[in-house]
Amino acid sequence: MINASRVVDYLVDLVRIDSLSRREGAIARRLAADLEALGARVSVDDAGERVGGETGNVVAALPGTIPGPPIVLSAHMDTVVPGEGVVPIRDANRIKSDGRTILGGDDKSGVAIIMEVLRTLVERRIPHAGVEVVFTICEEVGLLGAKHFAVERIKARDGLVLDSDDASCLFTKGPAADRVEFTVTGLEAHSGICPERGISSIQVASDAIAGMRLGRIDEETTANLGVIRGGAAANIIPKETVIRGEARSRDDAKLAAQTTHMRRRFAEAAAKYQVTVDGVVHSARVVERVERDYDRLNVPEDAAIVRHVLQAAKNVGAPVKTRATGGGCDANVFNQKGLQIANLGTGMRAIHTLNEYLLIDEFIRSGTIVLETVRVHSAGA
Ligand SMILES: [Zn+2]
Repeated sequence: MINASRVVDYLVDLVRIDSLSRREGAIARRLAADLEALGARVSVDDAGERVGGETGNVVAALPGTIPGPPIVLSAHMDTVVPGEGVVPIRDANRIKSDGRTILGGDDKSGVAIIMEVLRTLVERRIPHAGVEVVFTICEEVGLLGAKHFAVERIKARDGLVLDSDDASCLFTKGPAADRVEFTVTGLEAHSGICPERGISSIQVASDAIAGMRLGRIDEETTANLGVIRGGAAANIIPKETVIRGEARSRDDAKLAAQTTHMRRRFAEAAAKYQVTVDGVVHSARVVERVERDYDRLNVPEDAAIVRHVLQAAKNVGAPVKTRATGGGCDANVFNQKGLQIANLGTGMRAIHTLNEYLLIDEFIRSGTIVLETVRVHSAGA
């Protein structure tokens, strides 16, 4: 029932608007204007000021035409790099970039679906309860827009994020994540003249990492060290090395165990390195910064939003299954703030790569499911 050619054209328009994280000003203005034209009340929150970006989250409410529980629909406006000057190329069932940039279907496919659902509701006068929209900033750089979003701004207590690939999957379970940073400090010395007066922070870090469990830990737990930076020159024993990484698990106890393991490996490695220089004992030191990046996504299978999406999908003949993911998204943060939000796929593929593309039929199917979900949810069963 949605207008397939209109939503594809709109998506093509949106991906042409540059919107790297913190630079979502232009797309936010476009969306705010389009939402207002549909009769929605639109505001922009202060998340942009808090993260040093061009705009905050765009928040909109389309008043209901019948009584019933409101629903919130959300997608993020920002894209990863390289995402400027996107030239979308369309063939029979795909939209891709020209290969020099990402496409930005992550997450403009979600944004376009939400806009098309609102347009269809208004244009076809489909009876519906209130529909609220949150278009977030800075999802790709740490879910920052969602983290700075005050849920009191909306009335809905449940809804959907549209920010994953397979349109036949509703993601209801996802991991919590810890962000870790270790700064290893050794002792600087000339590597040729007096290496015995130095402690190599690179060697200490290597010792810690060599004995560390990383990668796939188990079915629901992963860990990664993704950045390492240290040293100044080949002939200087390196004083400082900084390592950044993360651990994720859908099980809180397993996450705590993995993070503890990583911290302990650094502490144990540092304890092994000591030198005495002119009677003074120097030891390697590690300063750690460990913080919860986001909590896990855990929407119960019997939650209204889950039942409604599955029912809607069945109604339109496009069955959807609930699934667990290893990724994190705005939905993790919204749930942490007390909302019940699951994440439905939009047909995007190979995201965060130059080969990113969108499957048009799946994209349309996702839009059809979301529209029907709004109808089913409005009935409030
Ligand atoms: Zn995304």
